[in-house]
Amino acid sequence: MKNKGLLIVLSGPSGAGKGTLCKELLNRENFWLSVSATTRTPRKGEVPGKSYYYLSKDEFKNRILNDDFLEYAEVYGNFYGTPKSSVIERLENGEDVILEIDIQGALKVKDNYPEGVFIFILPPSMEELKNRIIGRGSETAESLVTRFKAAYREINYVSKYNYAVINDTIDEAVIKIESIIAAERCRVDRIKDKILNSKEDLIHEQFND
Ligand code: 5GP
Repeated sequence: MKNKGLLIVLSGPSGAGKGTLCKELLNRENFWLSVSATTRTPRKGEVPGKSYYYLSKDEFKNRILNDDFLEYAEVYGNFYGTPKSSVIERLENGEDVILEIDIQGALKVKDNYPEGVFIFILPPSMEELKNRIIGRGSETAESLVTRFKAAYREINYVSKYNYAVINDTIDEAVIKIESIIAAERCRVDRIKDKILNSKEDLIHEQFND
């Protein structure tokens, strides 16, 4: 029987650098990044179907009614949701899937899929978080304050996660995430059946060396 893939949930406050870490991880490892649906308007440079699936509020509501989302949440006045069927199919197929989602969404996934790996990305400091949000240049003064206040509240949720990674330098943070994933792949409760089923082959290999 094929082992299920890992569901890796990267989450944390806006400006912590989840997106950048995700891109870097995808360059290095063979993960499948889930593309979310959103009701927000595309930003400059974003590609429909690659960055997000851009939906109207009505279309989003219909998807909710059809039970199409693994989770969804309202974040800063817009809706965001993770399409369920594609994620489940990939996991069943043994592929490792990454979700880059907000904290409300991550906690919903944890309730329904506790075997996921929940990683909280922290900024090195609140000052740095503020600089990163300003540096994006995509926020108004008002939304900047909203995001910053939300970040203060959200950091309290770190205790609900399995791991916390401080995103000081991208390289170091990515190495830590890769190490977490490597360790998770070796957890006995994930691979016990595979080991027991292949015990005979392992012994056979040992003695035929
Ligand atoms: P942005 O508008 O800056 O792309 O994203 C705003 C926030 O929504 C980020 O924290 C991002 O991680 C989160 N987000 C993106 N996709 C999803 C999703 O499918 N579900 C949830 N709950 N949050 C999401």
